Amino acid sequence: MSNKKVLITGGAGFLGSHLCDRFINNGYDVICMDNLLTGSASNIEHLFGNPSFQFIEHDVTNYIYVKGNLDMILHFASPASPIDYLEMPIQTLKVGSLGTHKALGLAKEKNARFLLASTSEVYGDPQIHPQPESYWGNVNPIGFRGVYDEAKRFAEAMTMAYHRFHGVETRIVRIFNTYGARMRLEDGRALPTFMSQALRNEDITVFGDGSQSRSFTYVDDLVEGIYRLAHSDYVEPVNIGNPQEITILEFAEEIIRLTGSKSKIIHKELPKDDPQVRKPDISKAREILSWEPEVDRAAGLKKTLEYFKEQIG
Ligand code: UDP
Repeated sequence: MSNKKVLITGGAGFLGSHLCDRFINNGYDVICMDNLLTGSASNIEHLFGNPSFQFIEHDVTNYIYVKGNLDMILHFASPASPIDYLEMPIQTLKVGSLGTHKALGLAKEKNARFLLASTSEVYGDPQIHPQPESYWGNVNPIGFRGVYDEAKRFAEAMTMAYHRFHGVETRIVRIFNTYGARMRLEDGRALPTFMSQALRNEDITVFGDGSQSRSFTYVDDLVEGIYRLAHSDYVEPVNIGNPQEITILEFAEEIIRLTGSKSKIIHKELPKDDPQVRKPDISKAREILSWEPEVDRAAGLKKTLEYFKEQIG
């Protein structure tokens, strides 16, 4: 019997590449598709030559052709950091809308299951805390984050429409801030920025007074949650994230302590529409997937530090 086959769009990105590893380890044949706009061949080079792995360089906003059968599509292609949205607003909108449409069309054609990588950004700057899946969110459609938030909201709507109208088997994961090896050093997000600054003994740039909170998930926990959701029969969105919440100022201090850095904290202007709080309500994931995070921040940051040390030399 031949292996099951999964297509992972955005498979050369931070999360996509970890999913390539996980699905190969679980006996799947993996087709990784990426245009390498924010993804990198270095994230998947260890898989080249593996007979279960194939890489196709392609922009999924254009018609997607894949030969043969497909059992599953994981749609992870998208820029995914605030700096990326600022620099690539149109590509961000296009991949969330046109790219999701193309990937869903392929799922329908191949009779494949489709999993959408959605995001806690669909909740915008939330007025309900922590955020359950039933919350509709508080998004500024014309702000600079709007290009990502609205594209992902559209992608969720499109995914549900393909499910209801065409009977495509769909899953939606709402991913909260995730960290681990293979994050881009220069993507402008808090964790890679603080780690790089700390390891170089440069000033740590906390935006605003740092009282805004986030809840950081270690990548292995996220991948486990996604793997379980992909194999469940649950159609509506599921939050996957670690509810361990921390303010950004405390997070910066934690990274200084962890690295033993001489860096000082400085404050910069808070970007517009920066969510003041974020923390997942994971009751659904607990109940439906029997999932909860296993790696706490101290352990996860320690592992991640090794990667950043290697990168920075
Ligand atoms: N942040 C910061 N300094 C930086 C980068 C980010 O203080 O150099 C803050 C940012 O304003 C936000 C939080 O850290 O409040 C998390 O930002 P990130 O870009 O990692 O993710 P997101 O805002 O999408 O959760």
